[in-house]
Amino acid sequence: MDTVLAVEALYKRYGAALAVAGITFRVGRNEIVGLLGPNGAGKTTTINMILGVLEPTSGSIRIEGRDVTTDRSRALACTNFTAVYATLPGNLTVEQNLRFFGMIYDVRQLSDRIAELLVQFDLKTFRNVKCGLLSSGEQTRVQLAKALLNRPHLLLLDEPTASLDPSAAREIRAIIRELTARDGVGVLWTSHNMYEVQDVCDRALFLSHGHILLEGDPKTLPREHGKATLEELFIAVAREPLTLSLE
Ligand code: ATP
Repeated sequence: MDTVLAVEALYKRYGAALAVAGITFRVGRNEIVGLLGPNGAGKTTTINMILGVLEPTSGSIRIEGRDVTTDRSRALACTNFTAVYATLPGNLTVEQNLRFFGMIYDVRQLSDRIAELLVQFDLKTFRNVKCGLLSSGEQTRVQLAKALLNRPHLLLLDEPTASLDPSAAREIRAIIRELTARDGVGVLWTSHNMYEVQDVCDRALFLSHGHILLEGDPKTLPREHGKATLEELFIAVAREPLTLSLE
């Protein structure tokens, strides 16, 4: 597998509490990996360490072979993210937001790149509208456009469809699938929607209390563990992590 993200023996300790307890995983090019787990499992902590926002207690994170701790700016130059809690400034228009972030990411030929993304995400009519006035679905499309400004090789999507109606969510999944297949992007995707995970993810990691307990194809994992659906498996992992980890 051509690896975009390599996480090795990653730990994060907050005082006495271990939020991430020695996880190792990879995300390949053209691959969408689901990071699943109950509330408090350690998903956001993991994503924040990959983004260089939080310092790991120990372990290593490499993006395209570059270490996030020792070669931070080069590792993060080919990375981007969206998260429901990281909304774009609502008083800036769609275009102003894309220009602002494009300058931060030092995007070359920024006007051309913005024009491309406005078309790709069907945002041309909203170009001069303040982001705070857009619907949740429209804001998600702007967030994705922002996340693609620097043509990332690694995309971290923290619940990208959380506030979307089923039709808008399907549209976003189709866009992400297409760019993963076409542009060689690797995606780490967190979601609490098991239907979505089966629909969009090539592989899923189940995190519980900071450990990866299960890993595999979300379409076949339930059967492999004697469950009818991914949701049943999720609930079993969340309730009985020790039993499942020993199976
Ligand atoms: P959710 O699905 O609810 O977003 P999550 O899987 O993203 O949950 P994290 O936010 O990564 O979980 O939290 C993992 C654990 O670390 C939780 O027990 C949380 O209370 C704890 N934690 C997170 N941030 C801190 C912090 N700054 N100080 C102390 N504990 C923290």
